[in-house]
Amino acid sequence: MTSTNDIRRSFLDYFAGAGHAEIPSAPLVPYNDPTLMFVNAGMVPFKNAFTGLETPPAPRATSSQKCVRAGGKHNDLDNVGYTARHHTFFEMLGNFSFGDYFKEQAILHAWTLLTKDWGISSDRLTATVYHTDDEAFDLWRKISGLPEERVIRIPTKDNFWAMGSDGPCGPCSEIFYDHGEHIFGGPPGSPDEDGDRFVEIWNLVFMQFEQAADEIVGELPKPSIDTGMGLERIAAVMQGVHDNYDTDTFKALIAASENLTGVKAAGEHKASHRVIADHLRSTSFLMADGVLPSNEGRGYVLRRIMRRAMRHAHLLGASEPLMHRLVPALVTEMGQAYPELVRGQALIQEVLQREETQFRRTLEKGLRLLDEATGTMGEGGELDGETAFKLYDTYGFPYDLTEDALRSRGIGVDRAGFDVAMARQKAAARAAWKGSGDAAAGEVWFDIAEREGATEFTGYASTNGEGRV
Ligand code: ATP
Ligand code: MG
Ligand code: MG
Ligand code: MG
Repeated sequence: MTSTNDIRRSFLDYFAGAGHAEIPSAPLVPYNDPTLMFVNAGMVPFKNAFTGLETPPAPRATSSQKCVRAGGKHNDLDNVGYTARHHTFFEMLGNFSFGDYFKEQAILHAWTLLTKDWGISSDRLTATVYHTDDEAFDLWRKISGLPEERVIRIPTKDNFWAMGSDGPCGPCSEIFYDHGEHIFGGPPGSPDEDGDRFVEIWNLVFMQFEQAADEIVGELPKPSIDTGMGLERIAAVMQGVHDNYDTDTFKALIAASENLTGVKAAGEHKASHRVIADHLRSTSFLMADGVLPSNEGRGYVLRRIMRRAMRHAHLLGASEPLMHRLVPALVTEMGQAYPELVRGQALIQEVLQREETQFRRTLEKGLRLLDEATGTMGEGGELDGETAFKLYDTYGFPYDLTEDALRSRGIGVDRAGFDVAMARQKAAARAAWKGSGDAAAGEVWFDIAEREGATEFTGYASTNGEGRV
């Protein structure tokens, strides 16, 4: 069996051998984009190189980039533990051409690496292209010899990439692996495409056009390439398993949490172990890159992920803080590739233990309140916004944790009601300041707090969808 660590190495070696400069992963907090919460794709550190603001590190580059998708446009938090292919933290393997090679070489490299070097059967592979991209369609047919029906034209945004409303954009081509008939799901573009049978493993982006205010205004003088392949997904393929959570790295982490809790990852407990293993990775890597839990911005996203894992630890019957005791297993699996984990280990463990000790003080009471409020509800029920807010405000339950806690029973949460309660509390806090006698100072403080908050909020609200708690 090829280990995940070996697959990462093999990818980077392949592209280094094809003249690409190997660039280490950038930290998860983007240095070049204040509107983005966390790096969520391999190309993010190279954004300015693609737009021409910065000189590219080399004409061709390759990397394995740490990514977090737990908020904003790419929010996979709710998928974790429940699909075979989503994580909050994952590694994106990529090769990049900055005005050097284009479509033909990109497709040729991808096809050669997958089918020749790695020996993946072409019978299992399907490619998609943007519906108008005849060039890519023809290249796929010529290079791969895939039959016509397995090069699928897709008319949606899934196959058209843009950096934002302005800047480079272009069609993309995705490669899917068919895990077999025994798994539910249909090929891309079909009604059952959301199933887990056909898993997207690699996305090739052909940066070809220039966009202004969402309109294509011309062709780029030097078309570029950006690709991204999920390491954990390709590891599943190469290790002959369907599910990312059955690959070597995740098996080791799940075994560690089984050992410490004495509960097997089966039946109703399976999702909990997966959530714990996934969230252990995202929280540890975020802290290794300098993010610490707090009540706003990036720190709050981190805290939300942590507390969510901690509820699952509680669900498994852990009577003591658990997360920090899993860190050594993570360091064993990933510390060699990411030395920042080793450097940060003591701090990560300390923060996790402190956070879990603190959260456990209110967790049980909060769960009791949740039970009282929903005890008689059946599937399709809805928790009122006031109680959800009380859970948030008094018991430290992030909104999404409450949602997650009710998920298995098919009960929803009144989001609008929660938002109203939240807004009311903010207004009350503002009024209290006004009444304190030092109105001017209070006003200034609130203005700053709201403005700062707002910077982050519009940031992830405008470019990445929602930025709510
Ligand atoms: P999906 O449609 O499966 O959610 P995506 O289209 O959102 O994937 P891209 O944005 O194209 O993914 O990212 C490039 C590659 O990164 C994907 O082809 C996939 O292999 C991997 N990837 C994306 N999201 C995740 C995730 N949450 N966990 C693990 N791997 C991921
Ligand atoms: Mg996605
Ligand atoms: Mg996709
Ligand atoms: Mg994609």
